[in-house]
Amino acid sequence: MVKLSNQHNNSHYIDERVFLLKIAVVLICLPAMLVLYGWLFEGYLLAWLFPSGISMKANSAFCFILASIALVLFLTRHPTATLVQRILSLLLILTGLMTSYQYLTGINLPYIDSVLVQNQLVENNIANGQLYFNRMSPLSGINFILNGLSIFLLTFRNYHILNLARIIIIPVILTAIMVLIGYAYGVRELYRFGFYVPLSPLSAIAFIELSVALMFIHAERGFMRLFVGQTLGSKMVRWLLPTLILVFITIGWLCRQGNLMGWYNNQFEVSMLIFLTLFLSGCLIIWQARAQHGQELLRQRAQHALELNNINLEKKVERRTQELKKLMEDLEALSLTDSLTGLANRRAFEQRLKMEWQRATRYEHPLTVMLIDVDHFKRFNDDFGHQTGDHVLAQVGAILQQAVRTTDLACRYGGEEFVIILPDTPLDDALPIAHRIREHVADYRWEARQVTVSVGVAQLNQQKTPNQLVSDADQALYQAKAAGRNQVIHLA
Ligand code: GH3
Ligand code: MG
Ligand code: MG
Repeated sequence: MVKLSNQHNNSHYIDERVFLLKIAVVLICLPAMLVLYGWLFEGYLLAWLFPSGISMKANSAFCFILASIALVLFLTRHPTATLVQRILSLLLILTGLMTSYQYLTGINLPYIDSVLVQNQLVENNIANGQLYFNRMSPLSGINFILNGLSIFLLTFRNYHILNLARIIIIPVILTAIMVLIGYAYGVRELYRFGFYVPLSPLSAIAFIELSVALMFIHAERGFMRLFVGQTLGSKMVRWLLPTLILVFITIGWLCRQGNLMGWYNNQFEVSMLIFLTLFLSGCLIIWQARAQHGQELLRQRAQHALELNNINLEKKVERRTQELKKLMEDLEALSLTDSLTGLANRRAFEQRLKMEWQRATRYEHPLTVMLIDVDHFKRFNDDFGHQTGDHVLAQVGAILQQAVRTTDLACRYGGEEFVIILPDTPLDDALPIAHRIREHVADYRWEARQVTVSVGVAQLNQQKTPNQLVSDADQALYQAKAAGRNQVIHLA
């Protein structure tokens, strides 16, 4: 859901950028076309719009038209569009280079300045000593080289050269702003360099529009990401940077105008400017800090909540782990216990026998096993029922448990058969225990009928496997049964 809405925001945002790019193209192209029209037909449509009367030159106007075509072609991905863009950018670079060459060498290349416009007005002005009447300013030349190069590099859509394509047009924007400031404040040095042709305000504006638009091509990659992101920083830079430029140029211009009107003198103008600058900078800083402060608080709160959550989660995990551990232990015990008698079951017996067997054979310790079987239990069941039989089995189990030492293990082997492992116990020590068990069972005050058991005992000897030891005990048990039951027999 979040992702979807983000995507929606982004696409909305990209639509907005496409729209702004089209506006920029119109804003560059339209004045340039009017200017070109003026030059071609001596109409001077826009040449006198600005107080200085300094016009965009015909070549510049033409270059701006080419540049705006190249710019609008960034909206398509057609391979031909890329080819056209590269040709257009090379034309811009070529024009810039030839203009610069003329300025540097003083050699007039034929037709470069008058390739578009050859009319009486131009000829008259040149005849009157205005030699460069229709030549673009040297700064325009350099700027077209840089903008052309930038467009050329951008057509490669290569991540590594994207930033380079942007960095080279930063000077274009900065110098154009300087030129505009020069016009706004009447500082000739900022737009006219010695005897060279000045850069017109209209050209300066067009260079800013063109360069800024180029900066935003593929802006989601490279350092321009900052300007198109959805973060607080991105939103701020989008608002603050244009605001900063417009506000300060405007207040400076207003202060200047007051002075020019004769309302106050230079000192007052500077004081006003300083005061307004301080005031507005302060406002901007506070506004920015406030937003950042709010964001930081939100972040801290979120982090705090997250930490709390983590602690709770850790506690929960710890509790669950303990529960699981206990459950595992219970399960383990359950899987090794016989439910009727509470003794160890056959699985537990087999595990333990294997262990004791290994120990006894390795250290040559004695090991004895005894099998205990209830006599005529089938009959008992038949006479008194299965349930009473179960009680007998449970009681026999209890007697066995009492009879053995803690190091021994009494198990229910299956049915009405029990087995006891006696580690470190030679046959001589085991036999009294076997007899005691037999006697205890026989002497117990059984409710239904006298119950007896037969016991077969075997000790570890030359047997090759634990099973053989058990089978020896079983053989002894068989002999006890054969000998009339209620007896203890051991295999020698
Ligand atoms: P013997 O003296 O030769 O051992 O005769 P027996 O009847 O005890 O031996 P047999 O193997 O013929 O019968 C064992 C009986 O034990 C058969 C079965 O019904 C009974 N039995 C086995 N497991 C249980 C049990 O869990 N509960 C009850 N009540 N009886 C069981
Ligand atoms: Mg049996
Ligand atoms: Mg039996």
